[in-house]
Amino acid sequence: MSKTGEHSGNLVASEIAGMKINKELYDFCKAHSAIYIFGAGKIGAGFKNYLDLCNAKLEGFVTSYTLEEFREIYEPGKTGVVIGLSDKYLSEVMPMINSIVSAQDIFLSDSDYREKLGRFTFEYKRDNLGFCFTLTTHCNINCKGCCTFAPISPPSYYEYGEFISDVTQLNKMKLQPIRITFSGGEPFLNPDLFDILKYTRKTYKDIKIQLYTNGTILPKLDMNRLKELVDIDIVLIITEYPSVIDAVREFYKCADSIGLEYYIINYESVKMFATYDLNPNGDAPEYDFFNCLHVNSTDIYIYKGKIYACRRVSAAPYINESFSMSFQVREGDYLDIYNTTENEIYNFKITRHPFCSYHNHEKSRLFKWGLSEKKADEWIVY
Ligand code: SF4
Repeated sequence: MSKTGEHSGNLVASEIAGMKINKELYDFCKAHSAIYIFGAGKIGAGFKNYLDLCNAKLEGFVTSYTLEEFREIYEPGKTGVVIGLSDKYLSEVMPMINSIVSAQDIFLSDSDYREKLGRFTFEYKRDNLGFCFTLTTHCNINCKGCCTFAPISPPSYYEYGEFISDVTQLNKMKLQPIRITFSGGEPFLNPDLFDILKYTRKTYKDIKIQLYTNGTILPKLDMNRLKELVDIDIVLIITEYPSVIDAVREFYKCADSIGLEYYIINYESVKMFATYDLNPNGDAPEYDFFNCLHVNSTDIYIYKGKIYACRRVSAAPYINESFSMSFQVREGDYLDIYNTTENEIYNFKITRHPFCSYHNHEKSRLFKWGLSEKKADEWIVY
């Protein structure tokens, strides 16, 4: 068996459509005239990075050592305390805080959320950096509301020469990725794919290399090609789609027989998607961007010489072209890899990009998967 694991795509979709915690934190900060973060470690630092981007009235940090001083400046109902600690300190610290600060002035989120903030730091993004290369903009399925806009993207792909030049430039900056991911559109539509994969394995001998695919082309590949994937240790991440499910599930037996590793993103009975609605008004709440999978990922999204905040930014020209829109791609939405620095890249991963103002996750809805009709309302809310 070469299956390395699986999870439900429907679960991820419902998580995207259900996030509320950021609004609760934002409202707590707005309800107080001064905000302090308790805990000056990595979680505290992550909260500061996020709350600064939300323009919260952050006054500073409090720790067990400065709690007595804080007692002097604490004003009930005006001063708010956001707990920026991991669980292991709570039982010791909370009684001390509760003895000074009333419950309405304390924001204590669940452990997962605090740990998530602990990853929103320069150091964490630097030490866990991943490269995610877009190998094609087009696809052979074209799902409704596709999160990479493949149905409305003109066919284009990362050419072997461009890829080598960009990887060489990234290496000049001494960036040390812990993982390399290839995605699309559908990467197996890229005619240079196998050369790109072999070059990547030669350049990055020991790190994990994974490739997202809808699996449709795998059953058509000859055995030698499949064995090449085994030889260079590529892990396939196969997203299952109703329209091609039987052929793909048949392919698993073949993969098992040659030891080709694969991970499955499945679905229960009905496949669901979450909308990635873009609002041309650009009035998404300033806290909302932290609901984003891309903002919370340590991957940088690379395509033809640029690092993009996400696929919405790189696809903006296609959206504008297809639907006569005028979504602006501005400074801060991407970096030119030939004109940036290592530190600028890490800081790019702990920021709110201008394009995020078009994207309101809170409006995200679940819908039944289907094929695209290339209509604007698959991606845009008016
Ligand atoms: S626009 Fe911003 S919030 Fe939306 S997907 Fe891109 S990075 Fe995330």
